[in-house]
Amino acid sequence: MPTAQQLIADNVARVRDEIGVAARAAGRDSGEIKLVAVSKYVDADTAALLVQAGCRSLGEARPQQLWEKAEAPSLAGVEWHLIGRLQRNKIRRTLPLASLIHSVDSARLLAALDEEAAAANLAPQLLLEVNCSGDTAKQGFAPEEVRRLLPTLANYSRLSIAGMMTMAALDGDEITARANFASLRRLRDELAPNAPPNVMLTELSMGMSGDFPAAIAEGATIVRIGSSLFDGVL
Ligand SMILES: *Cc1c(COP(=O)(O)O)cnc(C)c1O
Repeated sequence: MPTAQQLIADNVARVRDEIGVAARAAGRDSGEIKLVAVSKYVDADTAALLVQAGCRSLGEARPQQLWEKAEAPSLAGVEWHLIGRLQRNKIRRTLPLASLIHSVDSARLLAALDEEAAAANLAPQLLLEVNCSGDTAKQGFAPEEVRRLLPTLANYSRLSIAGMMTMAALDGDEITARANFASLRRLRDELAPNAPPNVMLTELSMGMSGDFPAAIAEGATIVRIGSSLFDGVL
């Protein structure tokens, strides 16, 4: 029986290979694509096996779980990504810990983040979550909301908006997923030339275990992969 450590190391190697294959097929350098290993399914000790397998960036969907894992000695030095909803009352504890918040989904949250960043003298990196699938169950700005919001982002001078994040339709196939990812890339290409100075839009966080090759084909710079890294473990 292979140990959990061996299984996770093999899974990480396989996923990295698949990222490389997808990047080459798209004529891209796999070095431009960051793997965020999503540790939300496991405890800190199991998440540490991801770090041992070479993962430096871990993602959590719930702020409290990010706080807990960020305190675990076995996970010291990890670059933390918050990929799920951030409630305003959780901003204060999350901001100093998260190197990138992927899931900014309202103007109210932006204003609260800017206020707390000023109070704590921080300059957080954020992504706008965009609902590209029209899925009503999904969080995120509609594309036309992002268009309207763009000039107002200059007001949040503490915040660096590094890019955008999306999730493909829950019930969609690979073709639908690729279309969702393509629409985020086109929105970025449309908005980037007119974006205020604190809005870079260089990062596209898209692609999960089931659909990351399609996301890489459409320009993902960050993929968020969980379940594939725990094959045989969970
Ligand atoms: C859980 C989660 C992921 C990882 O999904 P897998 O299918 O397990 O790879 C990616 N992004 C978000 C926002 C998530 O909540």
